[in-house]
Amino acid sequence: MDSESVEPIVRPVNRGWVAVFVIGPFLAVIAGAIMTVKNGASWVPLMVAAVYYSLTVWGIGLGFHRLFTHRAFRANRVIEFGLAFLGSMSAQGSVLRWCAVHRRHHQYSDHDGDPHSPHTEGEGVKGLLKGMWHSHMGWLFRENPPALDKAVADLAKDKMVMWVDRMFPAITLFSLFSPALVGWLLTGTWEGTLATWIWAGPIRIFLFHHVTWSVNSVCHLWGARPFKTKDQSRNHPIVALLSFGEGWHNNHHAFPNSARCGMAWWEIDISYMLLWTWEKLGLAWDLHLPEAALAERRRN
Ligand SMILES: [Zn+2]
Ligand SMILES: [Zn+2]
Repeated sequence: MDSESVEPIVRPVNRGWVAVFVIGPFLAVIAGAIMTVKNGASWVPLMVAAVYYSLTVWGIGLGFHRLFTHRAFRANRVIEFGLAFLGSMSAQGSVLRWCAVHRRHHQYSDHDGDPHSPHTEGEGVKGLLKGMWHSHMGWLFRENPPALDKAVADLAKDKMVMWVDRMFPAITLFSLFSPALVGWLLTGTWEGTLATWIWAGPIRIFLFHHVTWSVNSVCHLWGARPFKTKDQSRNHPIVALLSFGEGWHNNHHAFPNSARCGMAWWEIDISYMLLWTWEKLGLAWDLHLPEAALAERRRN
């Protein structure tokens, strides 16, 4: 018998590293607050952090989420690579694992089998509190759902995606430490280097972690439900603003392969604005958008 073991496509959960990337950025927030009280805030670290934040939000929202998980549009290969790389810089798991877990979320939304629903942890106040913790961060420490490899069999055929997936640890190190180099180049001082590193490195990772996790927790608990869906997905304007559009989450569950998450004119979807620009420039095409008649029929 050939007993050769097959390497899994989706990486297993490493709880130690999850703990490091949950606790480390939290400690950085405390250190950053102390540094700001002592030395005051300066523009360079905040501006660099804003750039890193925006790029990684687009990497997750447009890349991992709308492009790779849902195939909501097609794009130039350089854009695809850029989005895969930038999404990996957010330290939210490698591209294949992120997409596999998210596809499971849509498959079982708020029912048994959903990896991070706030509604599967029991009844009453205790169940709700457990669900809030589980959907926000607790799920990160659980084993992968079974047979995740099948969920991303299509993506695993893409050599570029596989390469970025395998480079995930190196990309994470780059994401964490390159802000120090940028800080040194822009300020030329040790104080500037340290402040730029802490704001654009771990604090930026902390902020975007909690914004993404809020899509799983807040956006399945609180907010409007303009569309009929079989789950508890909700639109939350603050999460939507911070996530550049993904927080219009009831819209998204109603139309998962739509390239835009904001549906009404006032539902600001910053990621869709960028995608729309790329389409006009010929860098993205085949944008899926729900037909107006279908959208009307699905309204609550
Ligand atoms: Zn959801
Ligand atoms: Zn989705």
